Amino acid sequence: MSAHDADVIVVGCGPVGVMASLRAAQRGLSVVAVDRDLEIYPLPRAIGMDDEIQRLFQNAGQSDQLSDCSTPMGGAEFLDADGNRVIGMELPPDHRGPSGHYPIVSFDQPSVERFLRAAAVETGVEMRLGAEVTAVTGDQPDTDATVTLRDGTTLRARWIIGADGASSTVRRLIGVVLDDQGFDEPWLVVDTTKLDAELDLGTLAQQHCNPERVVTVVPGHGTRRRWEFQLGEHETRDEMLHPDRIAELLAPWGSPAQLLVDRAAVYRFHATVAESFRRGSVFLVGDSAHQMPPFNGQGMCSGLRDAENLTWKLAQVAHGLAGEALLDTYDLERRPHAAGQVEHAADAGRLINAIAEGGAESYEAGYGGGRSFPHLEAGVVDGSHPRVGHPLPQPSVDGVLFDEHLGDGWAVVGATAPDLGPWADLGAKAVTADPALFPGMLDDGAVVVVRPDRYVSAVTTDLPATTRRILAHFQ
Ligand SMILES: Cc1cc2nc3c(=O)[nH]c(=O)nc-3n(C[C@H](O)[C@H](O)[C@H](O)COP(=O)(O)OP(=O)(O)OC[C@H]3O[C@@H](n4cnc5c(N)ncnc54)[C@H](O)[C@@H]3O)c2cc1C
Repeated sequence: MSAHDADVIVVGCGPVGVMASLRAAQRGLSVVAVDRDLEIYPLPRAIGMDDEIQRLFQNAGQSDQLSDCSTPMGGAEFLDADGNRVIGMELPPDHRGPSGHYPIVSFDQPSVERFLRAAAVETGVEMRLGAEVTAVTGDQPDTDATVTLRDGTTLRARWIIGADGASSTVRRLIGVVLDDQGFDEPWLVVDTTKLDAELDLGTLAQQHCNPERVVTVVPGHGTRRRWEFQLGEHETRDEMLHPDRIAELLAPWGSPAQLLVDRAAVYRFHATVAESFRRGSVFLVGDSAHQMPPFNGQGMCSGLRDAENLTWKLAQVAHGLAGEALLDTYDLERRPHAAGQVEHAADAGRLINAIAEGGAESYEAGYGGGRSFPHLEAGVVDGSHPRVGHPLPQPSVDGVLFDEHLGDGWAVVGATAPDLGPWADLGAKAVTADPALFPGMLDDGAVVVVRPDRYVSAVTTDLPATTRRILAHFQ
């Protein structure tokens, strides 16, 4: 009998913890997931999800469920004090991002968490609710990984994933501190349901960079819409949460008869990154590892990238296909990537303020401003091809998205069937593709090595040498 209760204990069943649980279980790990609350938090915080993360839902077998509770967003723009567009873009309904899905959808967070939990349990995750973690071990060398619950129960696992949110108990218990990236602003967030079908609020996310008050407006799923109002220096939480004050703030867009307020809350938007995403056998994912202002809709998306990155590595080690050294690449890959997104989100917030104050030197930090999205610069990646460290583009062939041909693990894609060599032992799949589907990637006999998380590990004409370098991480 195993000395462990599970391969992995996931602490926290928010969106990131539940996705980590589901993906770990889908990859053959035994998982116990615990959450101190009995119910899913009923009100949405995250509202927007990008193309790459919709692809993750596709690969987790959850695309249809996501479609049922999401709505494509028509684009985004920054407006100056006179309401003129400074930067922005429209996204036509048939537009697809590089990962093969609509570039951004709004979604209903509680609905997403509900179907993810159901899928996790169906896949074999043991979910314990009303179970608060009060102690953790495993962060020090040669110590067992355990969590202790408030009722005194101790659970033992090979690894622990701390997905317990911004005030993470796991992070505190393993002594990891947050590095502050220098952004800290109080904002009022108001979610509404549109009651008046005639009221036209458009389909764009908008940053109103008005010196009188900076406001973000985000179309939600269906008839929902979110407003975020920057608080002035002397405005208090209680004053801003008063229904009359909220009605006054919403008045430029609609009356109380037209807009039903579902929730209002004051948040401090800040920008932090944990000094390390790993201590021993304990890993941090999601808000426990990084927090960012919501202007780019990337907080949860970043956490879901953590979950996907970590779980395929844990699975390879658990199945004896790689040594523990592979797990060192989790922090190496994810921390700089997440830090890049935190910086980008904070810069978007600074840009909003700069436009409101009368101008900005550069619009690079804003939507369509041209700054490139972070990619993996180190870790299980090899070579200098510009696609390395980015998700493999996902074309659709005869209505079938390309990932459906890739299988669940590693894949080597070539214009003709690639000779897998050592990749065969890792269960990799050899896939042939028309080079026209992947411009600049499959020319002159080059093949693409694709990781289980769909990131490009290498584009190479010398697969044996590339393989030796990549597999050095697996020792
Ligand atoms: C106003 C706002 C707008 C946002 N918009 C977006 C957006 O559009 N797109 C986007 O990607 N992100 C957005 N975000 C960020 C997003 O909401 C968070 O990044 C995401 O919810 C974090 O998920 P998580 O699973 O890491 O943590 P959480 O959702 O906080 O979940 C943590 C879980 O851990 C549990 N827990 C805590 N402590 C313990 C313990 N000791 N024992 C057991 N369980 C415990 C909690 O009960 C909770 O269920 C937004 C955030 C805000 C505030």
